[in-house]
Amino acid sequence: MPNPLKPEKSVVTTCAYCGVGCGFKAETRGDRIVRMIPWKEGKANHGHSCIKGRFAYDYYNHPDRVRTPLIRASIEDPWTPVSWAEAFDYAAGQFKRIQATYGRASVGAVSSSRCTNEEIFLVQKFARAVLGNNNIDNCARICHSPTQFGLSATVGWGAASQHFDSILQSDVIMVVGANPTEGHPVFGSLMKRRIRQGAKLIVIDPRRTETVKSAHCAADIHLAIRPGTNVAILDSIAHVVVREKLYDEAFIRARCEWHEFENWAALVGSDRYAPEVVGALAGVAPDDIRAAARLYANGPKSAIYYGLGVTEHSQGSTGVMCLGNLALACGMLGIEGVGVNPLRGQGNVQGGSCLGSWPHVFSGYRFVTDDAVRASFEAEWGVPLDAEPGLRLPNMLDAAVAGTFKGMYVMGEDPVQSDPNQHHVIAAMKNMECVVLHDLFLNETSKYAHVFFPGSSSLEKDGTFTNAERRVSRVRKVVEPLAGYQDWEITVKFMNAMGYPASYASPAEVLDEIARLSPAYRGMSFALIDRIGSAQWPCDESAPEGTEVLHREKFPRANGRGTFMLTEYVPTAERTTDRYPLLLTTGRILSQYNVGTQTRRTANSLWHPEDVLEIHAQDAAVRGLKDGDLVRVASRFGEIELRARLSTRVNPGVVYTTFHHAKSRANAVTSDLSDWATNCPEYKVTAVDVALVDAG
Ligand code: SF4
Repeated sequence: MPNPLKPEKSVVTTCAYCGVGCGFKAETRGDRIVRMIPWKEGKANHGHSCIKGRFAYDYYNHPDRVRTPLIRASIEDPWTPVSWAEAFDYAAGQFKRIQATYGRASVGAVSSSRCTNEEIFLVQKFARAVLGNNNIDNCARICHSPTQFGLSATVGWGAASQHFDSILQSDVIMVVGANPTEGHPVFGSLMKRRIRQGAKLIVIDPRRTETVKSAHCAADIHLAIRPGTNVAILDSIAHVVVREKLYDEAFIRARCEWHEFENWAALVGSDRYAPEVVGALAGVAPDDIRAAARLYANGPKSAIYYGLGVTEHSQGSTGVMCLGNLALACGMLGIEGVGVNPLRGQGNVQGGSCLGSWPHVFSGYRFVTDDAVRASFEAEWGVPLDAEPGLRLPNMLDAAVAGTFKGMYVMGEDPVQSDPNQHHVIAAMKNMECVVLHDLFLNETSKYAHVFFPGSSSLEKDGTFTNAERRVSRVRKVVEPLAGYQDWEITVKFMNAMGYPASYASPAEVLDEIARLSPAYRGMSFALIDRIGSAQWPCDESAPEGTEVLHREKFPRANGRGTFMLTEYVPTAERTTDRYPLLLTTGRILSQYNVGTQTRRTANSLWHPEDVLEIHAQDAAVRGLKDGDLVRVASRFGEIELRARLSTRVNPGVVYTTFHHAKSRANAVTSDLSDWATNCPEYKVTAVDVALVDAG
């Protein structure tokens, strides 16, 4: 009898989950995917994978997938299945009516880091060339927008300076606000390999994560800081570097402006950042701060890896600048084994940042306010473009609540579940007259949508992703799209229905357009990537097969030099009180991916069937709680219920949960504070109290 699982063919593609971007061979039999095998030639993963990626196909033909376009006049009405032509006509008619009634700026678009580069580029083109405004944002707004701001300010590009394999040359690895073992498992394994070879590990994180201690490695120094004190602790590390003259003067004089270093050194060298002062504030031993500073500065090769524990704060951009400053001061840029590297949560966060899905820049980080840049896009797109930066996603939601913003095209995102202060997001959604949702499943946001475009998963389309090390890899169609169209085709047809004559034979032509308009992608093409496997940007005439390490000779700034930014610590306004005496912080678990839309529909759900609340035994005892009790978590913004898990991973005074399950509604309690520069929400610090839910 033939084996029904025996594959007949395989297609090399890229995992659509985390920012590692592992290469996989998706094996099929007939029209079914039967297995995902890690691709040995994949330069990001070298044949390795994690349990998310191995099962990253079960969801694609899950019974919950929507296969027909849906429309309804009101969110109170049931959905009506319609043809694609009717759906495009209806959505376009509503958007045109809204713009005629409320003005050109009353609508906007949001794309996702789950989309391919080509789709992200098309959605921002939809906003700019079709809607005629710059109301375009993407989900990096709520995760790594401070990376773009903070790294651009210090070293010029908001991107990882290294390739992943560079870590194998590091002597010291500093992980700040990240847990690669669970969030970026394949990279986490590479990091552990280097630690087993003798590299030292410093972890700055409020929680004793798997990265701090596991069966295979342990941190040499763990600064278990109080949530919200990143900037103070990084400035204190810098204080030791300055006071003990551990900085690299030759590098600073050659590659930076010395007087800017002096200004920064005067700030961080002041007594208020002394380890004794900051240690008391952050809850860590002053000698551990000193030891971390000496270890990092003395390297000789020290690399920084960081995540959302740095960015999702009211000083998220300042925290990123602290890391840029520290690397510049210690000369830890421009060679193998060093650098500052954001670990991107979703597969294409870097692509989302690069390809113009922001209200102020086109693809290639070029400003919409620059007349010459705008003229080059106008020449390519054949329409006049708005010179005024548009609304960020939180501003769109605020304007919707205020009644001036009425329509949104949302591709691959679930703002109701993933954005902060859920009550506010729902109020905004309810106030809009046309929400067009383009996704695989009816998610939380679909409850407030009027049009649903059934999208295609990464297994049903062609395109590219850019991973956390700037590596552009191919996404290849493994099976036919369940609802008939690939996502890029849906956006193009929506543009056409709006009256804009977009036309592409394939996403390869979209990447060609990206290359014409975006300097760092100038040499990228499907042909190049198909030939060499993948390529890291910048990829142009001087680097025709891409660039592994940035900043070797100069920084991509007007004067070619790195800059020190002043990073004064400002405490978050979110403080504990008698009523809310604990600090809640959030994170991820290995088996689940983000809001769980995909992984909850795969075998991974067996490993993590619900989100739980980690609480220290001391805090539990005060409240009469036992392990497994159902507890109410209350903040100034809302209440949720979770099972308590007594844990020594968190210190007394800190509680922790994940956000993978819609029913746990973690964002119903998170605050509405956000990063001063980018509006990235402060997910990592919320004052709460925890109490037993009365079974009666
Ligand atoms: Fe690789 Fe990340 Fe996918 Fe795991 S989830 S297989 S580490 S890309």
